[in-house]
Amino acid sequence: MLTNQNTLIDAFGRQVDYIRLSITDRCDFRCTYCMSEDVEFLPRDEVLTLEECYRITKAFVSLGVSKVRITGGEPLVRKNAIWLFKKIGELPGVRELVTTTNGSQLEHHAQAIKDSGVQRINISLDSLNPERFRRITRVGNLDKVLRGISAAKKVGFKNIKLNTVLMRGINDDETLDLVQFAIREEIDISFIEEMPIGLVDHARENSFVSNTDTLTTLQKNYTLISSALNTGGPARYWTVANTNTKIGFISPHSHNFCEACNRVRITCKGELYLCLGQEDKIELMPLLREHPNDDQPLINAIVASMKMKPLGHDFDVKRAAPAVVRFMSHTGG
Ligand code: SAM
Ligand code: SF4
Repeated sequence: MLTNQNTLIDAFGRQVDYIRLSITDRCDFRCTYCMSEDVEFLPRDEVLTLEECYRITKAFVSLGVSKVRITGGEPLVRKNAIWLFKKIGELPGVRELVTTTNGSQLEHHAQAIKDSGVQRINISLDSLNPERFRRITRVGNLDKVLRGISAAKKVGFKNIKLNTVLMRGINDDETLDLVQFAIREEIDISFIEEMPIGLVDHARENSFVSNTDTLTTLQKNYTLISSALNTGGPARYWTVANTNTKIGFISPHSHNFCEACNRVRITCKGELYLCLGQEDKIELMPLLREHPNDDQPLINAIVASMKMKPLGHDFDVKRAAPAVVRFMSHTGG
C-alpha cells in the first residue's frame, strides 16, 4: 500500500522508513542463543551480491526509507562490506547508516567504517569474563572485542552502544558489571530479551530474563532518569544520573513494541521479512536476477508487500517450539 509516491505505509497505517539488511549469514562467532555449533552456511550463489544489496537498498530509499542498518551474521566478515557501506552512505535520502557487529574485526576496520559514512555502531557484548565470553560465543576472544570497542572510540564514533542478551544462570550476574563498564567507557548499553528464534541447545524458558527484572536490579543501584530519547526503535531508554551512559531495554516479551514498528528486514538471501517474529515474506532475489537492468518489478513488489506486514510478533518463551525456526544470523538481528 503506497499513499504517496515516496512513502511505504502498511495496512495498519505504520510508515516503514527503516530497513535492516543482513549482508551475510556467516559469522566468526557461534553464539549459543543465535546459531547452532554445526551451522551450515549458505552456498555463495544463494547469497545476495553486494551489488544486489545495493539495488535493494536503493529501491527502498526511493520509497522513503531513510535509515539503514547493516547486519548479519557478522557484517565485517563479508569481503568488501566497506564498499557497500560507502555506496549506501552516498545515497541521497539516507539520513542514518548504522551497523551491528560482534566487534571481533573492529580494531582493523574501525577507521574504514567511519570513513565510509557509517554514523553509529552497535557492538554485542554478553560477558566481561574471558572464559564465559568464549562459552557464550563458543569461539570468541573477549580481548579482541574490547580492543574493537577502543578502536571505535578512538576513530571518533559517538553514541556507541553495547547490545547484551542476559540469560539466567549464564550471564545475568554480570548486569551491574556490564553497566559499570559502559559508564566507564562513556558508551550506552541495551539489554535485549532473548527471543525464541531458531533452535538452540539451552532451554529458553529457563534462561529467559525479563527486562522488567533487569530494570528493577539496576534501579536499586543507580538513579535512572527516564529518557525521552526515541530512536524510532523498540528500545526504551533511561539515563544513568551523573554519567554519559544511557541504558536501553529491548523487550519483545515484557513490553511488546509492535504498535510503533517502522522496519522490515532483508535477509542475505534477499527474503523480505515483514516482521522478525512471523513468517510473512517475499523473495526479492528472483526479481533482481530476472530483471538485471530494471528496478521497477522490485519496487512494485516492495510496495505490494506492505499489505502483508502483520500487526505484531507472536513470541512466547514458554512455548517449546521457537516462534520461527530460522536463525537470527540468517534474518539479521
Ligand atoms: N553479528 C553481529 C552481532 O552479534 O552484533 C550482528 C548480527 S546479530 C544476529 C545482532 C544481534 O542479535 C546481536 O546483538 C545478538 O546478540 C542478537 N541476537 C541474536 N540471536 C538472538 C536471540 N535469539 N534473541 C535476542 N537477541 C539475539
Ligand atoms: Fe554471530 Fe552475531 Fe549471531 Fe553471535 S549474535 S553468532 S556474533 S551473528
